[in-house]
Amino acid sequence: MRSVVVGAGVSGLSCAVRLLEAGHEVRLVAAEFSPDLVSDRAAALWYPFLAHPVEKTDRWGAETYAELMRLGEIEPAAGITMRRGREYLREQVELPGWRDDITHFRVLEADEIPEPWVFGWEFESPIIEMPHYMPWLLARARELGGVVERGEVGDLSEIDADLVVNCSGIGARELCGDNDLRPVRGQVIYIEQDPGFGRYDQQPETLTYTIPRRDVTVLGGTAQVDDWNLEISEADRENILSKCQAVWPELDRSKIVGEAVGLRPSRSEVRLESEILSNGTPVIHNYGHGGAGVTLSWGCADEVVRLANQLG
Ligand SMILES: Cc1cc2nc3c(=O)[nH]c(=O)nc-3n(C[C@H](O)[C@H](O)[C@H](O)COP(=O)(O)OP(=O)(O)OC[C@H]3O[C@@H](n4cnc5c(N)ncnc54)[C@H](O)[C@@H]3O)c2cc1C
Repeated sequence: MRSVVVGAGVSGLSCAVRLLEAGHEVRLVAAEFSPDLVSDRAAALWYPFLAHPVEKTDRWGAETYAELMRLGEIEPAAGITMRRGREYLREQVELPGWRDDITHFRVLEADEIPEPWVFGWEFESPIIEMPHYMPWLLARARELGGVVERGEVGDLSEIDADLVVNCSGIGARELCGDNDLRPVRGQVIYIEQDPGFGRYDQQPETLTYTIPRRDVTVLGGTAQVDDWNLEISEADRENILSKCQAVWPELDRSKIVGEAVGLRPSRSEVRLESEILSNGTPVIHNYGHGGAGVTLSWGCADEVVRLANQLG
């Protein structure tokens, strides 16, 4: 089958790889490439955050966890490491549905939880270093025979293909006229200091994280809905640092080495479904992954291949 994937972010590249592995002829078209994408801004911790519906994201997340762990073991160039982290919460909540799908999960003891948090858990998950992972994914798609082109798609029905896979991220707002897709702005800080274990408070209102890569730790965050501003905000920087210092008192501001901003493609639900365009071309949409595009990437790519098989 001649398939065209629109988008070179983590969603498009993962789909391209899976379609190529399934025997498709793949052409990938994207307006922009790494390192200028939202995917390059991802922190990136495996953790289902700001993505719905939970019954599907838990499944896609579990499939992705297994694949990222496998890649971490066999593909050193992909930049994936397994790390432990602690999620702190301000109230007792139901335990996450994905807890049985990961290698380590336990509820924290009271004396392991700093004030003002009252509840929390420790978990092990992949940390995906996007400066390594994105080039690795693109190289993998090329190695499997994928053809990669730069280009802006104005209308999906103009694409000459047996199947179109739409992984245009926030670009789908315009491409598909989808106003359910909204930016959720995220600002991060890079610091050359290791917190030992990741520390998180991932409630959108209080969003705080320290995600240890091998070279830097990524500090966040913000989750500003409908905010298109790509400039670094000093107020956000101060807010992030004070939130991170509350979970990591040893944080040393003199070790900050960079900052970035990205717009999460947030939607009431991830759009992963097929549609037949008026010209008869089948399209599989795969966008709207919010703050979990990396976390869901392989599960969604596998689902895209299943849908493609159903289309024949
Ligand atoms: C600060 C921050 C931290 C994050 N941390 C995490 C994390 O820890 N874990 C996690 O899982 N996720 C995280 N995310 C979310 C994650 O980055 C996104 O969910 C994911 O990158 C979305 O990937 P995508 O491939 O769908 O979109 P994108 O990366 O935006 O790629 C979209 C692609 O489509 C192309 N495109 C768009 N429109 C067109 C068009 N008309 N024609 C041609 N090409 C087009 C673009 O050029 C681009 O190539 C974070 C996001 C931010 C901003």
